[in-house]
Order: sequence, then structure tokens, then C-alpha cells
Amino acid sequence: MELDALAKRYAQVKASIPSHVKLVAVSKTRTVEEIQALYDLGHRAFGENYPQELRDKQPLLPADIEWHFIGHLQSNKVKYILPKDPGPASTHLIHGVDSTKLLDELDKRAASCGLVQVVLLQVHIGQEETKHGLLPDEVWELLRSGPLLRWPNVRVRGLMGMASNTDDAEQVRREFHGLGELFRKLRSSDQDPAVFTELSMGMSGDAAVAISEGSTLVRIGTAIFGERVYE
Ligand SMILES: *Cc1c(COP(=O)(O)O)cnc(C)c1O
Repeated sequence: MELDALAKRYAQVKASIPSHVKLVAVSKTRTVEEIQALYDLGHRAFGENYPQELRDKQPLLPADIEWHFIGHLQSNKVKYILPKDPGPASTHLIHGVDSTKLLDELDKRAASCGLVQVVLLQVHIGQEETKHGLLPDEVWELLRSGPLLRWPNVRVRGLMGMASNTDDAEQVRREFHGLGELFRKLRSSDQDPAVFTELSMGMSGDAAVAISEGSTLVRIGTAIFGERVYE
């Protein structure tokens, strides 16, 4: 790992993001040393995709890191990111919640850990069939079903989405625009705008357009850490 290169890329990314947008550094596949290096540059919010990887890294790193879980979460893996004793800090925000079954499990687990888990609902906006997420109608229905009564230990703080992985810039903008509109409509109708505050959209390749469509939180890995190498 090149420390100077990391510092330079981090500075460039930070300079490209307005102050009202939160930067989550996506550290999946990165070593504890790489994460520590970015921490030493002052960064505190990190995002992981794989439950066991988050569970394994968290105890090896400073306790004041704000961990975001941004991957697809299966109900049977909730225990890894909401550990009971000895409890490291819980996961600050879970971005990819896309089923009532998962909400049931999160609520149960959060209750037994004695905490309220903050989450975002993932909305399907891209073309790929493999991308997870709720359809906009399902989001309306879920949020109208009385989530506070149904899942008292979970708070839905906003939405998350991933645009199609395509070179078609207009398509990416359309998809982010659609998600931004859904977010704004929910805020201006049945959601409390003081609670429903986060719109997580934008990655290394499409953060600028996501921000221009109203993103409040970008998830950026490659532009900070360099290309990922999967083993
Ligand atoms: C990997 C990942 C990112 C970061 O992608 P980069 O292109 O490396 O910035 C963001 N969001 C999710 C959900 C991811 O899985």
C-alpha cells in the first residue's frame, strides 16, 4: 500500500464531495492496515459488504469507527453484524434492507441486544436482474404498514439504491433521478422529514451524478483505495 497515493486519492475524493454529503469509504476486501491508514488520515465512516468480514475486522480497529453495512444481508447473517456480548459497537447504519423478513429478524436481534437499529430500504432502480431491492410500490406499502409498531427496534432512516453498471450516463441519471423523486415524495407526504433524512446513492463511477440528483451519502471504494483485488 502506497501511503502517499492513498492520501492523495482521499484528498481528491473529499474535494469532490460537498459538505452536506457524507462519504462512506467502502473497505470490503481491504486489509486492516489499509483501513487504519485511512483512519489515521482522519476518516471515520467505513462500509463493508460481507457480514463475516465486518465481524472479523471490527475488533481489530479503533472503536470510534462508524461502520456501515452496505451489502446484501441475509436474515441468518444478522447475528454477525449485530453481535451480542462481548459487544463491540453495533453497526451504525444498514443500507440494504429489502424484505419484511429481514426487518423481522433485525427487530428481534436489536431487541435482544437492547438497541434500536437504524436502516435504509434498498430500492431496485437498475436494469440488472441480480440487483436486490424493493420496487417503489413495495416501499410505499411497507412504510404505510406502520413500521414503528411492527418493528419497534428498527428505524427506517431513508433509501438506498444502485444504478445499472453501464456506460450510458443518461440511464444512470434517470435511475438516480427516479430514486431521488421517490425519496422526496416520501418526505413530503407520509414520512417525517426529521427522521427520513438519508438517500444513499453514488459510488466511485457515478457519485457526481448521484449527488446532483440529491444523494446525501456516497459509498466510495475504488476511488480512495485503488482497484480491488478479489482472491
Ligand atoms: C463495492 C460497493 C461500493 C463501492 O464501489 P466502488 O466502485 O469501489 O466505489 C458501493 N456500494 C456498494 C453496495 C458496493 O457493493
